[in-house]
Amino acid sequence: MITGKTKLLGVIGDPVEHSLSPVMHNAVLNHLGLDYVYLPLPVKKGDLERALAGFTAIDLVGFNATIPHKQAIIPYLNRITPEAQQVGAVNTVWRTEAGWEGTNTDVDGFIAPLKSLDQDWSNITPVILGNGGAARAVIVGCAKLGCSEIAVVGRNQEKLEQFKSSWANTGVSAAIKTYLWEELPHLVSQTQLLVNTTPIGMSPDADASPVEREILKELPNCAIAYDLIYTPRPTRLLQLAQDNANAVTFDGLEMLIQQGAAALEIWLQQPIPVEIMRSALNK
Ligand code: NAP
Repeated sequence: MITGKTKLLGVIGDPVEHSLSPVMHNAVLNHLGLDYVYLPLPVKKGDLERALAGFTAIDLVGFNATIPHKQAIIPYLNRITPEAQQVGAVNTVWRTEAGWEGTNTDVDGFIAPLKSLDQDWSNITPVILGNGGAARAVIVGCAKLGCSEIAVVGRNQEKLEQFKSSWANTGVSAAIKTYLWEELPHLVSQTQLLVNTTPIGMSPDADASPVEREILKELPNCAIAYDLIYTPRPTRLLQLAQDNANAVTFDGLEMLIQQGAAALEIWLQQPIPVEIMRSALNK
């Protein structure tokens, strides 16, 4: 029930209509019996500064940022965490006395299922497909797990070189090596962790896989295949990896849930019942 004292949270983006965040956040807020509501807040690209001033005026507690604001919001924030700086994007913002502060919970969202495996990551070289925004959070996450080398696969040599040089002086200690797709068969045969950060295989293109069956057969037995996509479930990539290499698989829904839980924990300053988020999204 919304009362006169209900505190406000939300997600800014354009579009935000498709966002699953209101469903999972409000499920937890209701479950905990807290007088908060999490709203979709449609904010167009050019309206960010005005929107932030409005949020300050109405005492919004915090918000998530999605496309097109994840990078654009940084100059308006009083402080961002080192992790957000490394990723170069912010997805979670909160109020302090000094002003708005931000971080990127995609990093912890991505590594949460991997951490549950209780593995030594220092000798594992993850292979990351794609070199866009999500790949940056994945790389910071892999470095946080302890990987000392990370292989990034892209289709555009120039973009790959820019991507590689963008990691200089960021404090990310892992060595970032870049490769074109032609080199995938060799890379796949050597890795214990394959991560798809491209949109290949996302609905309605559900029959597509970024890695063909013949190449996936080379994935070491019981390696981990992780697809950031969460529609369909499972993706073709995960299905092939499971069938052909007996892979341990994770999809993007768990990452989505865990990044949301990490954001809510920052705003509420209390532990979050993640299973409530999971069941709300599964429904
Ligand atoms: P992005 O910045 O646009 O990056 C996409 C990357 O994929 C780029 O490197 C792009 O290459 C590459 N790519 C696209 N189509 C390709 C193709 N046909 N062949 C080869 N490479 C291709 O997008 P993003 O924000 O990183 O998001 C990527 C995916 O991650 C999306 O599916 C998104 O839904 C998912 N995601 C999931 C979560 C989650 O919580 N589960 C969070 C973030 C993102 P070029 O640069 O050469 O174009």
